[in-house]
Amino acid sequence: MATVRAQAPGRVNLIGEHIDYSDGFVLPFAISSVTTATISTREDLVITVASAQRPKSVYRTTLDDLAPLTGEEWARYPLGVVWAMKELGIEQGMDIVIDGKVPLGAGLSSSAALECSVATALNSLFHLKQSLEELARITQRAENQYVGVPCGIMDQSVSLMAHEGSALLLDCRDLSTRNIPFEIASHGLELLIIDTQAHHALVDGGYAERRASCEKAVAELGITSLRDISVADYIAAGTRLDDLTYIRGFHAVTEMKRVLDTVQALEAEDFTKVGQLLNESHRSLRDDYTVSCPELNVAVDAAIEFGALGARMVGGGFGGSAIALTRQSNIEEMKRAISAAFSANRFKSPRFFTSLPSEGAHVI
Ligand code: ADP
Ligand code: MG
Repeated sequence: MATVRAQAPGRVNLIGEHIDYSDGFVLPFAISSVTTATISTREDLVITVASAQRPKSVYRTTLDDLAPLTGEEWARYPLGVVWAMKELGIEQGMDIVIDGKVPLGAGLSSSAALECSVATALNSLFHLKQSLEELARITQRAENQYVGVPCGIMDQSVSLMAHEGSALLLDCRDLSTRNIPFEIASHGLELLIIDTQAHHALVDGGYAERRASCEKAVAELGITSLRDISVADYIAAGTRLDDLTYIRGFHAVTEMKRVLDTVQALEAEDFTKVGQLLNESHRSLRDDYTVSCPELNVAVDAAIEFGALGARMVGGGFGGSAIALTRQSNIEEMKRAISAAFSANRFKSPRFFTSLPSEGAHVI
């Protein structure tokens, strides 16, 4: 019997929201919370999966019986990865034990952390020799086709490829990546993550409608994607678009510029500028793309009022989490201020996490 243990982190997207489907750039980083997968080979073809976070549901199947599971069974995440890697040379059963410290369902991608910890362990245990790019595609395929969630490739890419003290610039057009220095610790800064615990019903319809607006702008302007037009050219051509289509596309073209401006600011270690860009991103998501919600706005406003360099909502919107770039010395006071603002508005209490940009998946 051979055993390998690997860990993979969750993630936060610093900037670049709602532009992955317009061929844009995203700039996520790995958080310090990780999921660990310990995998031991067996003499037979049986596969068992257990998780410290799901003590009542140990799942048992065999290598020959792997097929997409229906329903909410958590085991479909690790089994999807085994399924997606099987043809590469897995011929034995295994026992998989998961322990996840990434909060589940808080928008920090516990799902990608789980998939990438399993993929990293399998790659080593069975000597599959897959590159990080290949592992990103494999884990995305597991989540799309086996779990049944149509996610992009950002979460898996950053969980696998991140470096401590860096954010990962991911080009959603060709999936090329570049590590960008994000050395906030040495500047006394940290990221406060505020999980609003709000989930408004608009999520699905709202997403599809906005995506359709971006596609309409592309079609009516006769361009290949919103990536291919400058902000100035978009403003000039915008008179040809109806107001709603225009303003949605305007978010996309300005957000793409903000990501590249953030990269420049990080390279110059200008964190004041990074903060301003986070604030502008939030304003654009709130007023132009209209995907924010009262809880996210209160979290962002309170963070800025209590000294954050910048703050914005992250993720799809209508709930979920916000981030604030803030001084480490200020974090406790800021948490209290945000909690007080939530209670004054009669919102559910928020949850807080802090993180520095951390290392991607590896065998431990
Ligand atoms: P997010 O990725 O934002 O945390 P998702 O809904 O995409 O939210 O993924 C959360 C799901 O992933 C959980 O409901 C569970 O099925 C599975 N999961 C993640 N981590 C674990 C874990 N440590 N143990 C068991 N299941 C997990
Ligand atoms: Mg997820």
